[in-house]
Amino acid sequence: MSSLIPMSKDIAYARLFSSVYICMHCNAKIRAQGAKVKLGKIKCRKCGSNALRVKSKESRG
Ligand SMILES: [Zn+2]
Repeated sequence: MSSLIPMSKDIAYARLFSSVYICMHCNAKIRAQGAKVKLGKIKCRKCGSNALRVKSKESRG
């Protein structure tokens, strides 16, 4: 009857392990824990920038 099955399984899985961030300078993918990213402890290994954005909105397409 109800087809409202949330995709929380995947989200929870991703949260448990690591989130994917994208470097805003060189678009490199960086997997890191969100807390550390917020603290600025995570740097892009390509360009050394810590300007990262979350890559959680690219679930489709
Ligand atoms: Zn970078």
